[in-house]
Amino acid sequence: MATLSRKLFDKALEVIPGGVNSPVRAFKAVGGDPLFFARGRGALLYDVDGNEYIDYVLSWGPLILGHAHEAIVREVQEAAKDGTSFGAPNPHEVELARLVVEAVPGIEKVRMVNSGTEATLSAIRLARGFTGRDLVVKMDGCYHGHVDALLVKAGSGIATLGIPGTPGIPAQVAAQTLVLPYNDLDSLARLADERGKEIACVIVEPVAANMGVVPPRRGYLEGLREITSRHGIILIFDEVITGFRLAKGGAQEVYRVTPDLTTLGKILGGGLPIGAYGGREEIMDRVAPEGDVYQAGTLAGNPLAMRAGIAMLKHLGQAGVYERLEAIAERLARGLGAAAEEAGLPARVTRVGSLLTLFFTSRDPVDWASASAADTKRYAAFFRRMLERGIYLAPSQFEALFLSLAHTNDHVDRTVATAREALKGMRWGPEA
Ligand code: PMP
Repeated sequence: MATLSRKLFDKALEVIPGGVNSPVRAFKAVGGDPLFFARGRGALLYDVDGNEYIDYVLSWGPLILGHAHEAIVREVQEAAKDGTSFGAPNPHEVELARLVVEAVPGIEKVRMVNSGTEATLSAIRLARGFTGRDLVVKMDGCYHGHVDALLVKAGSGIATLGIPGTPGIPAQVAAQTLVLPYNDLDSLARLADERGKEIACVIVEPVAANMGVVPPRRGYLEGLREITSRHGIILIFDEVITGFRLAKGGAQEVYRVTPDLTTLGKILGGGLPIGAYGGREEIMDRVAPEGDVYQAGTLAGNPLAMRAGIAMLKHLGQAGVYERLEAIAERLARGLGAAAEEAGLPARVTRVGSLLTLFFTSRDPVDWASASAADTKRYAAFFRRMLERGIYLAPSQFEALFLSLAHTNDHVDRTVATAREALKGMRWGPEA
């Protein structure tokens, strides 16, 4: 008998391209049909057929408190009673902006938008406006949203689905983006020596999390800072994933490297649609209406997202929050690594804070070339075996696994035990 999820997917395929509103949800890389979910609570998700899953996707990162956290739900309910959007200033956007400025070292002023994509597209426009230069440098395997200029060698869904080029993006636009390997300072130093005066910005995920988790090598972020400063290039840290996840101040706090501009999203909105970009006052003052670089938004700063975000950031200000995330993620990483080893499978677990990836590979992932050498068929088999047993992982090898404060040792231990069972017998072939 077809499940309710299957029936809904058939209906969705009639009216939604590919049946999904974002490509990686479609399970193309792992096989099978996507599940439709009815509700989430803490670390758990329930599909429309009533099955329960321990969730390691967490809406791709925002839900660091888990699903339907009471502080967020209360705030959203209260906010809705007073009206969902005014298209005019409200006190909550000032409060959230103040919390962001206080938390993130590189942000002196911040502008709210509605998604991570909007944040990165606005940040590169601003960098171009500020410098009067056109070229953008990004790193192979880093994803910064579906911005035309940034959808070149873009990791995440692009990597997952093996989409080679980007139809719909004029060659002239793509030509303004130069792509370098992640974790390779020499290539940037050479490029900057040759064309530094044409480069507006370098945008990077300080911890790459869209080719699976790939940590920065020691000195990489410092090197980026040094080279960009020397050439008058704006350094943008895309902290849409890492912001408020690795620490209150994001990766820039952890690694003590301050970019000129920072992009945020996900956790900032407490699970509601949001994005933000901010940075040095001198640069941010070029944004309209103070300055001449135009950027706007009908729903930007709406009280629903602002109040959810304020509740989220206040909660993350509590003592011991990041230590707890670290401990639980360490437990999971250790457990998954041991399970793979026990099964005799080549594997690498990469982890920074509460972001981690189990790569099926015998090479250390340090950039896209090495990360993409992982065995995606084996991952697909692992994913399906875990899903059947009630563990919801990202439906792609090239994504992070996210943990929340709602994940307990018990959830993690059950997950590791399940992984042990799932990995057993996968040794002789990915489809075993
Ligand atoms: N930057 C990074 C690092 C991301 O991971 C994402 C989305 N996963 C984005 C930007 C785009 O954010 P959104 O999907 O909200 O547009």
